[in-house]
Amino acid sequence: MLDCAIIGGGPAGLTAGLYTTRGGLADVTMFEKGMPGGQITMSSEIENYPGVTGHITGMDLMIPWPEQCQKFGLKHEMSEVTRVSRSSEGIFTIHKSDGTSAEAKSVIVCTGSTPKRAGFVGEDVYFGRGVSTCATCDGFFYKGKEVAVIGGGDTALEEALYLAKICSKVYLIHRRDTFRSAPSTIDRIKNTPNIELVLNAVPEEVSGDAMGVNGIRVGFKDGTTRQIDVPGVFVFVGNDVNNQVLKQEDGSFLCEMTPWGEVKVDLSMKTSTPGLFAAGDMREQAPKQVVCAAGDGAVAALQAIAYVDGHH
Ligand code: FAD
Ligand code: NAP
Repeated sequence: MLDCAIIGGGPAGLTAGLYTTRGGLADVTMFEKGMPGGQITMSSEIENYPGVTGHITGMDLMIPWPEQCQKFGLKHEMSEVTRVSRSSEGIFTIHKSDGTSAEAKSVIVCTGSTPKRAGFVGEDVYFGRGVSTCATCDGFFYKGKEVAVIGGGDTALEEALYLAKICSKVYLIHRRDTFRSAPSTIDRIKNTPNIELVLNAVPEEVSGDAMGVNGIRVGFKDGTTRQIDVPGVFVFVGNDVNNQVLKQEDGSFLCEMTPWGEVKVDLSMKTSTPGLFAAGDMREQAPKQVVCAAGDGAVAALQAIAYVDGHH
């Protein structure tokens, strides 16, 4: 039986792997359905990972992480996990898509989350070349420039406020004329002079060239359109948390979740289920940054060691 099963091999899972093995757990396996590294490997540039200077890609950043973990004994299995269950005796079973399973004394789930796409023409083509789903990651690249934000929920409005501090102007494009977000956030938006509301506007097509995005066209109900010339388009139209592995056969979740599908954790990444920890983008209030996911993974690993040792 494994001392600890880690599900997902992004920054959170790999750091959990490093800390559990180096911290003395003898038998730890990380189950990752693809190549280790996580979603940051899709990024063409990361400049906010502390201590790492110069132009590096997300892939460059992540390449050494698995090797460092393997040095301390982390086993990596390329498998898709379909479900994690727990017996009344507290033993976890890791069910895999090939029909096999593994047992573990503790589990750290780090399967991340996936921002939704809005579906306008050019969104996928220019993703990472002007179209972004992360203001903290990419906002600085547009310092002093104009950008567009798509969406009318809490995330879109909060990220628009964040971008308004860095960019010269933010066009907040929303398909209706009322917002879903908290009234206090809407007030702040309306009182921010460099945010222009573009309402009842459906994003139709992002345009660009070899250098990347140069504008977005939006359409209105009366059939008219407007071209907004911006080098950056930030899309915040919701998020899919990769929480399927926690879903049980009866449709319930293995631990408590927030109403929007994130795992509820305390400050030590403990879930409501003993021996089960969650780390990274899938946990509630995650800042969705590599450095934070890695920090979560380390915290969860220290708690998993204490749990397996009986100090919990
Ligand atoms: P993830 O990185 O999403 O890793 C989850 C892993 O779990 C994946 O490898 C996935 O394959 C695996 N997995 C999922 N389900 C299963 C399953 N059922 N079985 C087995 N494996 C599974 N952050 C920054 O700090 N700075 C940046 O500049 C930055 N730029 C970004 C640019 C882009 C284009 C993107 C997409 C993200 C960017 N981020 C950036 C955010 C950063 O990538 C995430 O916050 C971070 O990767 C989250 O780490 P994680 O380990 O929680 O999840
Ligand atoms: P959300 O509340 O689902 O909002 C998504 C927004 O995107 C909506 O305004 C929606 O428009 C718009 N949208 C969806 N699909 C679109 C498309 N294809 N094209 C154009 N626009 C599209 O998502 P979220 O903002 O990420 O928030 C998710 C949850 O987290 C919410 O419950 C939110 O309250 C919560 N949250 C809370 C905080 C906080 O409390 N501080 C911060 C962030 C998130 P419509 O409105 O027309 O549907």
